[in-house]
Amino acid sequence: MQKEIFGCTLEELQSLLAPYKVPKFRARQVVEWMYQKGARTFDTMTNLPKTLRGELDVAFHIQQPACRDRLDSSDGHTSKFLLAFADGTAVETVLMRQPYGNSVCVSTQAGCNMGCAFCASTVHGMARDLTAGEMLAQVIYINDLLRTAEQGKVDTLVIMGSGEPLMNYDAVITFLHLLHEPYVLGMGYRNITLSTSGIVPAMYLLADEGLPISLSVSLHAPNQELRSELMPINRKYPLADVVAAAKHYAETTGRRVTYEYILIDQLNDGEAQARELVKLLRGQLCSVNLIPINPVRERQLLRPSRARIEWFERYLRQHGLQVTLRREMGTDIQAACGQLRNQHLQESTQGATEA
Ligand code: SAH
Repeated sequence: MQKEIFGCTLEELQSLLAPYKVPKFRARQVVEWMYQKGARTFDTMTNLPKTLRGELDVAFHIQQPACRDRLDSSDGHTSKFLLAFADGTAVETVLMRQPYGNSVCVSTQAGCNMGCAFCASTVHGMARDLTAGEMLAQVIYINDLLRTAEQGKVDTLVIMGSGEPLMNYDAVITFLHLLHEPYVLGMGYRNITLSTSGIVPAMYLLADEGLPISLSVSLHAPNQELRSELMPINRKYPLADVVAAAKHYAETTGRRVTYEYILIDQLNDGEAQARELVKLLRGQLCSVNLIPINPVRERQLLRPSRARIEWFERYLRQHGLQVTLRREMGTDIQAACGQLRNQHLQESTQGATEA
């Protein structure tokens, strides 16, 4: 069986090529071809000797996710892809063309088992963890596309797609290191944001990794009771511990933590919650990102009125919190996590029962 090399580091590839008795620079040529120049077969690696290309072709494989679906928002800013790996597992990856550059949102698991009440990714549970190579394949897929079709590249990355990244910790860390390598994208850690539902022990581990990435914490409620209702993981890792871990992250890395707060009509958007939120976060090196909920077909949660959203934002600001309101991108293409994948899962099960 051929060995998959997409996701290997330069050093790993050097060891794999050792039996071929080739100079060390051959491994560097191969990684540059596959990560930077879109090569998916060895015969296109034209600066490698022909006989070596033939030998490598027999022994190794370079994965290429298949695009099962693509949706482009009507304003042309957002594109969403359903990318399938070799075993048929498909995940969503989103490209957002922002004023400050091209940002990609990657998935770290196929589906999710966190069970959050507002989220489409968790509706069908989790199929499996993704490997570091599969996370990287999502980014490289978009980077290749931008390079060839738009003369662009991936500038920033958000690990906010389907899945809980800190439940797939080792693969995510390997993925972050790969992104940073000059022979991959040479991406600055400061251009990377990781979002977590609050896996407390892993948040402490991450603070000690020495990677200056930005941390986002999905808060969504200002007290233990409501948060547990929305996010079952809060029973295992209580709100107070999550906030303490986020504070530790900010103090250790010197980087401002962002708390994501989805605004849901009549549930967490009232004055009582705004007051509690201010009390909880005031004085921390943090900001709050308010996200009017993207209503999900499987869920009965609604978006508050514009006036209510603006009131909530103003209240937090007037009481000393730094606040941003998420620009809505891609609502018309179901850009909320997991919605496109669900649609395909539903279609395939319908197909199976009809067959
Ligand atoms: N598991 C991680 C990362 C994936 S979810 C986490 O919980 O942070 C990342 C973010 O997706 C959530 O914080 C939330 O901001 C957003 N999200 C999920 N469902 C949403 C919905 N229906 N509407 C708006 N944002 C949603």
